[in-house]
Amino acid sequence: MRLVADGGDLTASRVVVTVNAYAPQLLPHLDGVVRPVRGQMLATAPGPRPLTGVWYIDDGFQYLRQLPDGTVLLGGCRQTALDEEVGYREEPNPKVQGALDHFLAQTFPELSGRPVARRWAGIMAFTDDGLPLVGAVPELPGAIYAAGLSGHGLSLAFVLGRHLAACAAGEAEPSLFHRVVR
Ligand SMILES: Cc1cc2nc3c(=O)[nH]c(=O)nc-3n(C[C@H](O)[C@H](O)[C@H](O)COP(=O)(O)OP(=O)(O)OC[C@H]3O[C@@H](n4cnc5c(N)ncnc54)[C@H](O)[C@@H]3O)c2cc1C
Repeated sequence: MRLVADGGDLTASRVVVTVNAYAPQLLPHLDGVVRPVRGQMLATAPGPRPLTGVWYIDDGFQYLRQLPDGTVLLGGCRQTALDEEVGYREEPNPKVQGALDHFLAQTFPELSGRPVARRWAGIMAFTDDGLPLVGAVPELPGAIYAAGLSGHGLSLAFVLGRHLAACAAGEAEPSLFHRVVR
């Protein structure tokens, strides 16, 4: 297979496509199966650090932690605009960011009031059952894909990555991991 990239072309006998939300742009059979969903976050200025650990609230619709310097990282509030938080536009918007501000003030008053240093958005890849998909790329022998981490890639990717490595080494079948979409 010949891979064409900005940094130069490559030839490889095995390829693993791991572009997550962007998979349907390269693999049309995943269109509508892997859906782009926007997630938004904010980071405050540093300050006192009353919270330890990682907080996962309202079934994960809000999540936050404090960095060692006290910076609050808060994400979520997608449920305030579910129909709008879809697609490939990686930009925060006032509705969800306002909801994050409100959530912080209401739920953790001791953390609110400090300046917000940064607001951003990223694109997640959702599947219907929340589990990632792994499979062979149709009509391209030696190429496999994994996509649809459904907003939980920081944990799911550990086992998924190990499985993909085994597939690339010819030691496992992609279809054995989970359902395959053709
Ligand atoms: C705001 C936000 C908060 C999140 N919070 C959490 C959390 O608290 N816990 C958690 O577990 N997960 C969280 N996630 C989800 C987590 O970030 C993803 O599940 C994880 O990043 C998926 O990893 P990935 O490598 O599959 O895809 P990505 O990290 O999305 O990487 C895909 C890469 O492919 C690149 N790409 C796309 N198209 C092409 C192309 N044609 N050619 C080359 N490269 C391409 C993209 O630029 C990108 O770098 C969050 C996501 C967002 C947006």
